[in-house]
This record gives sequence, structure tokens and C-alpha cells, in this order.
Amino acid sequence: MKRFTEKVHHEQQKEAVWVMREKDDEQSEQVGKRKSDEEQEDDSLKTPIVYSSRYGVRFCGMEKLHPFDAAKGAHVLKFLLKNEIFRHGRFYEPSEITKAELQKVHTRKYLRSLKRGYLRPMRFQTAGSILAGSLALRYGWAINLGGGFHHCCAYKGGGFCPYADITLLINKTLEEEPNVETAMIVDLDAHQGNGHERDFYENEKVFILDMYNASIYPRDHEAKLAISCAVELKPRTADETYLKKLKRSFKYALSEFRPDLLVYNAGTDILLGDPLGLLSITPEGVMERDQFVFATCREERIPIVMLLSGGYLKSSAKVIAESIVNLKTKGLLVY
Ligand SMILES: [Zn+2]
Repeated sequence: MKRFTEKVHHEQQKEAVWVMREKDDEQSEQVGKRKSDEEQEDDSLKTPIVYSSRYGVRFCGMEKLHPFDAAKGAHVLKFLLKNEIFRHGRFYEPSEITKAELQKVHTRKYLRSLKRGYLRPMRFQTAGSILAGSLALRYGWAINLGGGFHHCCAYKGGGFCPYADITLLINKTLEEEPNVETAMIVDLDAHQGNGHERDFYENEKVFILDMYNASIYPRDHEAKLAISCAVELKPRTADETYLKKLKRSFKYALSEFRPDLLVYNAGTDILLGDPLGLLSITPEGVMERDQFVFATCREERIPIVMLLSGGYLKSSAKVIAESIVNLKTKGLLVY
């Protein structure tokens, strides 16, 4: 594969969730099953937006340090429901991912090394990414109001990313969907997506476009070898330069590779003032970015699944929601 490097380059569950006992786990699985049976009948009333009230992460006050805004998904959903983006106010809800499903990518040793409790919301979000992947093939697009754990690979977590949801999503789709032979990851979170990069190194079926601030975490030089099209940004890169580079590199990527599914890691830690991303993109810039990616996929008839990934400002959820409403207004979210 040709490589191209440009050198500039609801309120969530309370603490009880993560200390939930086995009994509660069993009950919630049963409830989840009943719900999904009911929902099967109502699919025509749903929008391919994936969310669960189980997504929220809160534990011992550490949520304040967590790079994935603990209530980001809940806040985005609240805003979307208020704006009547949904035809019937119904969305898709994932069940918790099972150990067997996780073992399709993760090593037993790695899974044993994880602390069980706190990760439960992340297991719902991971299942949400996989569900969104299948919905994208059905509807042309889908959005998971969580996920995008792009620092985690099969054998190692990192940057608060415990499960490799992007790898799980792509592997499952390539294995189970006869019409999907190739996938592209467009990773526009401010950080380098070293997790999926490690997982798809030398995999000709997956093309990775990664545009990131080269001066921040994780600076994983080995993982960079897996990037098909890398765009390294300087800190404080602003809208004009950012969007110009995105348009040029995405066009290049699609001239080199035709994906049957596109995974869009739409981190909002590119926003001006984000304490970890250190870029200078305005809310309007984020909106234009998302619109460009979705419009291109629609023109090229490529199913797109969007994951929220990083974004550490309180204002992130509003920006995401406004951007999704903008996509809907522009006719890019048809279902
Ligand atoms: Zn990030």
C-alpha cells in the first residue's frame, strides 16, 4: 500500500454500576434481551444512532480525569432529542459485549489484566461501536454516541482506552459481511490512533488515514508504520490549514483505496482550548469537518460509522450535537 506522509504536518450510572454484583449483571442482561426483542419490531421507527444509559463512566471522582467526558453521550442525546432530529425519538441500544466477543481480538492475558468493574460502561460503548458498524451497512450511516478507543490494540490498552472497539468492529464486519472486503479508518481525533494501527499493520484490507497533533501523546513511531496516509499537525493548527489538509488527504486516500465501509473516529479534542488536543479548531471548523467527511461518503456511496472518541471540554457535547443536527439539515443523514 502506498504511503503518504505530510510533514507539517442521562446522567450516567452511579458508582453502583461498576461494583454491580453478578446477580445484577444477570438481571440487566435479561432486561437487555427483552428490550432488544421489542425493539426488533420497531426498527422502522428508529434512527441509526446508538446509545445506552450504561455508557456513563463515573468512579471515585476519577471521571474528572477521564478523557472521555463521562456524560458526553447523554448530553449529546439530550440535545438531539430536544432538536427533534429523530423521526420518532428512538435510537438503538446495545447490550454489553461478551467475553467471547472480546476474545475475538483481545488476548486472554490482556483481558485478565483489566479491572472488571470500572470497565463495564466501556464494554457497552464497545458493543455500541460494533452495532453501529452493522447499522451503517443497513442505513448508509450510523453514529455511536461513544466509543472510538483508538489507543487500544489486541494486547495493550492505553490513554484510557480499554477495548479495541475499532478493530472489533472492522474484524467482525470483514468476517461476517459478504459484501465488505475492505475498510478505511479516518481518524480525526487530535491524537494518533496507535491502537488500530498496531492491529492493522500490514493488513491490505484496511486503509488508515490519520490526522493528528504530532507533538502530543502517544507519539508511537512504530505504530505510524501502519498509517497509509498520515497528516501530522503542529500544535495550535487552526481551521483553514486543518480543513485544507483534510480535504487534500481524504481525496488522496479515496483515489488510492476504495473502502466498503468507513470508520470515522470523530474526536472533538481538536477544539480550541482542549487541554489534551492542543489544536485550535473552532466549533464551526468541527462542523465543516464532519460535513465534509459525511458528504464525501454520501457522494462516493460509502457506508460511514461515526464514533465520538476524545473531546475533553464541557462544550464538546454541544458541538457534537450541533454538528449532527447540521448533517441532518444538509440532507446527509437520510434513513
Ligand atoms: Zn484524543
